[in-house]
Amino acid sequence: MKALVIADGSKPLSKAEKLSIRRGLPISLGPSVCGRCVAAGGGCCTSEPGIFGPPLTRADEERIAAATGLTPRKFVHVRSVDAEEQRAWEEDVPSAKGIVVRGKVRSLARPDGRCLLLTERGCSLPLDARPLQCRLFPFVVRGRSLTVQPAGECLAVREADGISSLARQLRTSAQELVQLDGQLQEELGQRTPKA
Ligand code: SF4
Repeated sequence: MKALVIADGSKPLSKAEKLSIRRGLPISLGPSVCGRCVAAGGGCCTSEPGIFGPPLTRADEERIAAATGLTPRKFVHVRSVDAEEQRAWEEDVPSAKGIVVRGKVRSLARPDGRCLLLTERGCSLPLDARPLQCRLFPFVVRGRSLTVQPAGECLAVREADGISSLARQLRTSAQELVQLDGQLQEELGQRTPKA
């Protein structure tokens, strides 16, 4: 039976945890709404086979590589996106404009419909190494306004009684979401970094 490594998703992964990920051993996180969602068989980190994970910026890839010790070719899936899909995507998440480059997008691989960084109790990455689009989900930032995208599978959305309560459940805040959205735009070259 494979060993189970317990990690706290709010801290950087230890050497032992990184080694476990490289060896394909399961890592378990403490209880969280995301962990409960995964345990119930739902969640934003799983989908039908053939649907891909969140699109990545190059900086996302570097942060994941540093946190896990994996090279990007182990966790990135490159695929073609047609103009219609790109347009729909940019309408849903305006700050993702620029993530499709010459008709291609680099996404987190989901070999069997499950993100390969997902464990039985949630994401194995420390919070600050998660892709920006994962950290923003299920929120959409438009200027200063914050909305929640249709996210029927998200247990946190089902349990929350408003945007503030949802942000608390997901250990974030409106201020942090606006900052993350700005970071996403910077990493996609839509605006220059603040000095
Ligand atoms: S990186 Fe983590 S939060 Fe993002 S899809 Fe994978 S398991 Fe889920």
